[in-house]
Amino acid sequence: MSGTLIVTGASRGIGAAIAKLAGARGFAVAVNFASSEAAADEVVGHIVAAGGRAVAIRADIGSEPEIVRLFVTAERELGPIKGLVNNAGVTGGFARVETVTAQALAKAFAVNVVGAILCAREAVRRMSTRNGGTGGAIVNVSSLAARTGAAGEWVHYAASKGALDSFTIGLAREVATEGIRVNAVAPGLIATGLHAANGAPDRLDRLAASIPMNRPGTPDEVAEGVLWLLSPAASYTTGGILDIGGGRG
Ligand code: NAP
Repeated sequence: MSGTLIVTGASRGIGAAIAKLAGARGFAVAVNFASSEAAADEVVGHIVAAGGRAVAIRADIGSEPEIVRLFVTAERELGPIKGLVNNAGVTGGFARVETVTAQALAKAFAVNVVGAILCAREAVRRMSTRNGGTGGAIVNVSSLAARTGAAGEWVHYAASKGALDSFTIGLAREVATEGIRVNAVAPGLIATGLHAANGAPDRLDRLAASIPMNRPGTPDEVAEGVLWLLSPAASYTTGGILDIGGGRG
């Protein structure tokens, strides 16, 4: 695969695994991060050491001007954009709906929904054959929480991922004849720092027994699904939501 791929939130966790695998499969990778610069540089170092091309680009996906700058910089540094992975995501923290704050809601929707849609806008402006582009692919990193609803944990986060699923289906149909495929992956419980960062370091062990496969997934297992959706092997797949959850959900 060739061309420039932007992976948002690629300094850690699932995004870092996607960026590394994309670099190994031939994409020039724009490794986006918000604050973890050293970690993003490490991901870039890994890709370059393996013979690939990558740059780290700071941009808060909750900010429209920073998103626009991310795309301009990626294109300037690496060449025409052929793909986007909307991976950056935040939960807003654990809260029952009766205690959720407007601030937590605004943050989760700003990054997970508004930011993802604005990134897709920038990608479509460049990739659509209708706009003189040569096509490409978009993969949104959703969550099985969109279907389970995440009651008692983070319903607001689940709702933001539900919005991302609807957006995936709608955009896929809107640009289906313009050389762009749009899909999502819906990871289940994945072993990243997200759980501890939200104050629940035991969440992976606690929920493992509720998963049919009896274990959390790895970021690499999610990355494989994303790279397949980006590849020509998925040429007739658009508007799809691929569960990667060990049978959960
Ligand atoms: P993570 O380990 O917490 O990593 C989050 C990544 O997103 C980091 O690289 C972080 O960069 C970046 N990020 C956060 N806010 C950002 C912003 N405003 N702008 C740009 N980048 C930002 O999370 P993860 O577990 O890998 O999750 C990645 C995606 O998978 C998310 O969309 C999440 O909702 C989804 N997901 C995760 C799981 C799971 O169990 N882990 C399950 C289902 C879905 P900085 O460090 O630079 O801020």
